[in-house]
Amino acid sequence: MNLIQIENLSHSYSNTKALEEVSINIKEDDFLAIIGPNGGGKSTLLKLILGLLPIQNGKILKNIKNSEVGYVPQNTNLNIDFPITALEVVLMGHIKRKRKIFGYAKEDIFCAMNSLKQVGMEKFADKKIGDLSGGQRQRVFIARALCSNPKILMLDEPTASIDVKGQQEIYELLKELNKSIAIVVVSHDLTILLNYAKDVAHVNRTLVYHSLKEVQRSVTLSDDHLCEVELLTALGKTQICCNHEH
Ligand code: ADP
Ligand code: MG
Repeated sequence: MNLIQIENLSHSYSNTKALEEVSINIKEDDFLAIIGPNGGGKSTLLKLILGLLPIQNGKILKNIKNSEVGYVPQNTNLNIDFPITALEVVLMGHIKRKRKIFGYAKEDIFCAMNSLKQVGMEKFADKKIGDLSGGQRQRVFIARALCSNPKILMLDEPTASIDVKGQQEIYELLKELNKSIAIVVVSHDLTILLNYAKDVAHVNRTLVYHSLKEVQRSVTLSDDHLCEVELLTALGKTQICCNHEH
């Protein structure tokens, strides 16, 4: 089933055309990686899907509620000095719920602990977020996005500036989550592109969509010097649903 259908979506900021005639569907079991150059329009696309920007041209049809789209923004490591615990970070995902005068409602804490459990961070509930590793902190932010029981989880560069072990844990977590929800991830991380994502959308004002199955078969066998350029070359060679030029 299509959770989100995007049809001929265009978006301009005063005199910059950020997106032009973009069309793509997101299905319930998708694991879509979005790649493309800086300024290519990736964040604009996510913001339009999230309803953070008004639709100017084209359509976004949602078969799910806005609250069923979870979002992990880029650079969530910014406020790590803020003295709050992992549990409190996740509780902040409940802003629409009833807040008690002192502390949080029991059911909110129960739900937040559940989200922490889903990402394997329940033991760290009372730790200050500043004391966690980058990967652990990212998992806490993913837990926060899971609070509303999303059908789609969208992440903007989730593994940037995280150590290798932490990255590995996030990949495995995303794979596990993808058994029940769709994953849309802005990432240039080759491990995600080659081993986890099922499809890739290259966004540079226009969007070119590729199924990754064939690409993965042809490039994972090569050595570890593979770079994004080589991957893109491989993508170009497959010509799967592609009638654009790169
Ligand atoms: P990406 O996430 O792929 O780096 P963005 O979606 O952030 O790309 O940006 C796409 C284009 O739109 C860029 O040229 C950028 O400068 C421009 N842009 C993004 N946000 C704004 C804004 N709020 N006001 C004006 N121009 C913007
Ligand atoms: Mg961006």
